[in-house]
Amino acid sequence: MEAARFDIVVIGSGLGGSAAASVLSGLGLSILVLERGGFVKQEKANWDIAEVAIRRRYDSGDTWLDGKGRPFSPRVYYNVGGSTKFFGGSALRLRAGDFLVHELDGGRSFPWPYDYGELAPWYDRAEALLEVHGVAAEDPTEPPRGPFPFSPLEHEPRIARLAEGLAAQGLHPFHLPVAIDQGDKGRCIKGSPCDGFPCMVRAKGDAENRILRPLLLRKEPGLSLWTESRATKIETDASGARATAVIVRRENREFRVEADTFILSAGAANSAALLLASASQEHPKGLGNSSGQVGRNFMSHLNTVILALSPFESNPTKFQKTLAIHDWYGGRDGEAGLGAIQTRGKVRPENLAGKGGFLRSSLRKPIAARSVDFWLMSEDLADPDNQVSVDRDGRIHLERHLSNEANHRALIARTKDALRRAGLPIALIDERGISAIQHQCGTLRFGTDPRDSVLDPFCKFHDLENLYALDASFMPSAGAVNPSLTILAQCLRAANRLRESLAGSAAPAATAAPAATPAPAAPKGE
Ligand SMILES: Cc1cc2nc3c(=O)[nH]c(=O)nc-3n(C[C@H](O)[C@H](O)[C@H](O)COP(=O)(O)OP(=O)(O)OC[C@H]3O[C@@H](n4cnc5c(N)ncnc54)[C@H](O)[C@@H]3O)c2cc1C
Repeated sequence: MEAARFDIVVIGSGLGGSAAASVLSGLGLSILVLERGGFVKQEKANWDIAEVAIRRRYDSGDTWLDGKGRPFSPRVYYNVGGSTKFFGGSALRLRAGDFLVHELDGGRSFPWPYDYGELAPWYDRAEALLEVHGVAAEDPTEPPRGPFPFSPLEHEPRIARLAEGLAAQGLHPFHLPVAIDQGDKGRCIKGSPCDGFPCMVRAKGDAENRILRPLLLRKEPGLSLWTESRATKIETDASGARATAVIVRRENREFRVEADTFILSAGAANSAALLLASASQEHPKGLGNSSGQVGRNFMSHLNTVILALSPFESNPTKFQKTLAIHDWYGGRDGEAGLGAIQTRGKVRPENLAGKGGFLRSSLRKPIAARSVDFWLMSEDLADPDNQVSVDRDGRIHLERHLSNEANHRALIARTKDALRRAGLPIALIDERGISAIQHQCGTLRFGTDPRDSVLDPFCKFHDLENLYALDASFMPSAGAVNPSLTILAQCLRAANRLRESLAGSAAPAATAAPAATPAPAAPKGE
């Protein structure tokens, strides 16, 4: 085994890992970012639906096993920038009520260690970093905030008309906040539906484009990125209190990389899997798992796609992700919160074929030509039985049961009714069930009590002095909005605290990379 040493090792170059590398750079410390995949090439296939959605050109190729031991292909991506290379760019803050304990159908949410006010300034930074476009004060459920850093994306005419039809019913449709560089002089040329596609023109505010790439292009001193390098185990000292090294498989070579500080940013399922695979005499249930919560409480929302249409009206919209409705998000008059409704990337006929396709071929074209397409999300419960585990061969098992289903069904019913009244009488419903894990989170929840949480409120492991988890795994509850902005805000908050402690109290708090970076030339090797 070969040996290497850095001051800080970050495992994973996705949203949390990029944020960590960005905040911790500039301290004069050496930082290694380990990424098990490579760069996503900028190529024509980026926007080819058959390549991306049917042949799954960019998927990880992983096979996991479900609760009954049946193999399935999870929608996970292993590449620089992580899942954000394929995210839809919806970038919303949790609502203030999401931070408070609330009732769901099936149980209560787990408490956050702080309220919305603590995260608000970090949400500001996260929005600036990802270049979020939106408009304040349209959405009645919005938590207190200032103006968005960039103006909202305009509705195209079909969506503007729909917004009017919804407003006429007394609803409050608002401009969906998105991390897509559109508008005056924007980079976006509306070339793909965004959801599930990499951006060929780097208009998407993904973790590579906005956070890691600027560091690589300016050759940030001390920063190294090893691609095709998979962390397989984290080792500790004899006391078990300090992580000492990570074992890395890089092509056909194996490395033992030592460091003073380790940051786990492999995403909710893989971070938990790596800890469980790192069980030792000192940590027999898995590294950092004295609470028994590592891998548990997996959440990923209840998700449904609705294709709503009128036989008499076409939908020529190119960029559809501009509208959202939160009228049933928060509970009112003793009623539970139901969830969020957003327009999604425009469905094309090819989306209705292949895996997940649910329509006869003769119907695909006429339906896609007319449908206005929605993504509905409801919160799922942090259930300890929803669990990631690894077997002896290192394979990931994901046991997942749905919760809060009555509220999700009510959300679907209300959405259908509102859309019918707005002139879209036909609704095709595609409930995504347990296989939709795009919004995975919760497997290393944070909290104040080491008996029922894995991380402290700054994402340091309760059980270890120098190990942190900066990715989606910290979330104790998920709310019903897309998770990235919250993940980034908390990762910036925690990484800045770590930066202060590494540098001494004199160090200025870092704000991570500049908000707006011009489209640069590709780094070498990309
Ligand atoms: C199709 C899709 C659409 C989405 N749309 C939205 C959206 O519109 N809005 C939103 O807010 N969120 C969206 N999301 C979710 C969002 O992308 C994730 O919440 C976010 O990326 C999670 O950040 P993370 O740091 O936890 O993980 P990731 O960003 O996935 O990063 C994890 C990284 O770790 C690497 N890795 C894993 N294991 C190892 C290992 N053992 N060694 C080395 N490296 C490793 C992976 O390759 C990856 O690069 C979407 C996700 C998908 C898949």
